[in-house]
Amino acid sequence: MFGLLPEAISAELAAHGVTVRDDEARRILAHSISPMARRDAKKRPISKALQANVDKLFRATPLEVLERAQDSADGFVKYLFKHPDGALSEAVRIPLHKPNHFTICLSSQVGCAMGCAFCATASLGLTRNLETWEIVSAFSLVRDEAPGRVTGAVFMGQGEPLGNYDNVIAAAKLISHPCGGRVAGDMITLSTVGLVPQIRRFVREGHPHRLIVSLVSAMQEKRQRLLPVAARYPLSELAAALKEYGKACNNRVTVAWVLLSGVNTGPDEVEALVALLGDLRLRINLIDLNETERAQTHFKRATDAERQTLMDSLGQLGFPVVRRYSGGAHKHAACGMLAATFQETPAPNS
Ligand code: SAH
Repeated sequence: MFGLLPEAISAELAAHGVTVRDDEARRILAHSISPMARRDAKKRPISKALQANVDKLFRATPLEVLERAQDSADGFVKYLFKHPDGALSEAVRIPLHKPNHFTICLSSQVGCAMGCAFCATASLGLTRNLETWEIVSAFSLVRDEAPGRVTGAVFMGQGEPLGNYDNVIAAAKLISHPCGGRVAGDMITLSTVGLVPQIRRFVREGHPHRLIVSLVSAMQEKRQRLLPVAARYPLSELAAALKEYGKACNNRVTVAWVLLSGVNTGPDEVEALVALLGDLRLRINLIDLNETERAQTHFKRATDAERQTLMDSLGQLGFPVVRRYSGGAHKHAACGMLAATFQETPAPNS
């Protein structure tokens, strides 16, 4: 139910002998995506008889919220969900600079198959793709509890969004649908480790959503050691796909760079980046490494001096550099820390 656009809702109901008008199908979507609205009697969208049919025919089990863990340092809230098959996944409510505005970090898979050397999710391996309805349900549960407006969604939780392409794109469509999540299409971001065929497909299909590529290194051998998927899709191919994306989106292309001390902050990387993507209008997101026991790695956070030197040289080359604040670290909610762990102190339901 959570996974269907209005046309599909109509078709599904019709297959069971229930005819709905287009406006009814849109209202069914609106109310399915916002259980709060549905509980509000004043907003009852459709006749009781139709609602009964909808309840009967569509999956009514949402995800179960096992835990909400709020990081009191920065207001990030990590949600731990239990799925009908017992799988666990996570989402994070992220406060934006604008007061009472939030974005939601969503998972695309249970675990992840990409095996990035510094990421806690990698240690889980991949269990399965999330269904569209599961992604939308996670969005909807977090959004309904936000003390303000949710204006964005980022697929930066567990999993590789482009590894679950169809379901993630379908979920993004519903999250941005005017009768669905009503988030602007270009405020939905898919972060990818760099699956080249899917990047090309994304460009071809012309979606309004944004792509971010976790580049981490511009040197093939090193990147391959850090992100094993780079062996399958070498930097030369990734760079070509990014250039296609740059042309299509007519905007700067953002690449994410997790800073690893002594590994990927030196002048050799800057030189390699210029050689690889110097002719592309880039924006670079630098992420401080979150060290987790789970990742069991020897990687260390870059020092302030390493970060500053890198920022200065990228800045001199004219690349806008943004430091990504990766929050919620105290509750294992930050980048690379999502590994379905329980926290000690549940947050109030707010
Ligand atoms: N698989 C996708 C989506 C996950 S996004 C991708 O790789 O882009 C998670 C982001 O956090 C990625 O940019 C990833 O490189 C980064 N990350 C992974 N482990 C991290 C860690 N330990 N500390 C900080 N960032 C990390």
